[in-house]
Amino acid sequence: MITLDCGHEAEQVMVKCQDKATGTEKSLCYACAAESIREDMRTGDEAGLFFSQTPTGHKVTTWDGTVVSNQVYVVNPGWRDNFGGFRIAFRFLFEDSVWSGVGPGYGMYCNYRRTKLKSLRA
Ligand SMILES: [Zn+2]
Repeated sequence: MITLDCGHEAEQVMVKCQDKATGTEKSLCYACAAESIREDMRTGDEAGLFFSQTPTGHKVTTWDGTVVSNQVYVVNPGWRDNFGGFRIAFRFLFEDSVWSGVGPGYGMYCNYRRTKLKSLRA
């Protein structure tokens, strides 16, 4: 067992990320890494997360599968871009803020931006 920089113990380093204050690399467990993403979303306007389907709808998660939001609204279920790639547009709710993104499909990484919308279907 080793002790990660977040203070939790693990078999191995799970997630590495940069400490914004010091610029040094630190090791985190999955739970603390997910919390760090949530903290960034509370103070920032951009996030990189994954978008996928569930048996009952959709969800937005961190790369290890921790759910950030399962209140997802698909704005446009898909179209082909000029380069023949698939695109899907959706919004999700995170702590009363509506975020939007356009991704390359289910299970894919996507960048999101905070919007000023009052509801998912605004
Ligand atoms: Zn931790």
